[in-house]
Amino acid sequence: MEDSVGVLLKALRYSAEKHSDQRRRDKKSSPYINHPIQVTETLWTLGGVRDTNLLVAALLHDTIEDTDATPDEIKQQFGEDVLDLVLEVTDDKSLPKQVRKQLQIETAPHKSERAKLLKLADKLCNIRDIVHLPPANWPLSRKQEYLLWTEKVVEGLRGTNKELEDQYDTDLKEGKRLLGME
Ligand code: ZN
Repeated sequence: MEDSVGVLLKALRYSAEKHSDQRRRDKKSSPYINHPIQVTETLWTLGGVRDTNLLVAALLHDTIEDTDATPDEIKQQFGEDVLDLVLEVTDDKSLPKQVRKQLQIETAPHKSERAKLLKLADKLCNIRDIVHLPPANWPLSRKQEYLLWTEKVVEGLRGTNKELEDQYDTDLKEGKRLLGME
């Protein structure tokens, strides 16, 4: 227990430092770190996840993709299990965006159980943000397309955690209603 709190705090600090100059794209330019914190809390509270390495990976899940964090550094600081989890949810940024989005759909069913949990919580937080704190310059059509894309990714993640999936469905339905999609 004490060990878990220690490593979670270390991951929180590490992630906050790595994301320190990044902001979300909403109109308040919220600090980026809010997002990994929300994903981690969602796993804990809604998903019932008590797997410390998975919670640590949730705090770090966007660091390799979006900051100067390297796989070596994460392995050194947090170990190989955490690194493997982070890499499992990291897109290959050398690929064009449309290819990355298609790959997320195709690879989702083949991810490990733990990576699926992390991706479910991530997509749940993402659709909430797109509906309630959207990027300031996104037209309605882009938000609608985003929701539909997450739906395809989540299709491949199902059968993993009922609470996360049910909440995703509830939020998706609400989002579609608010964005005039049904
Ligand atoms: Zn994320």
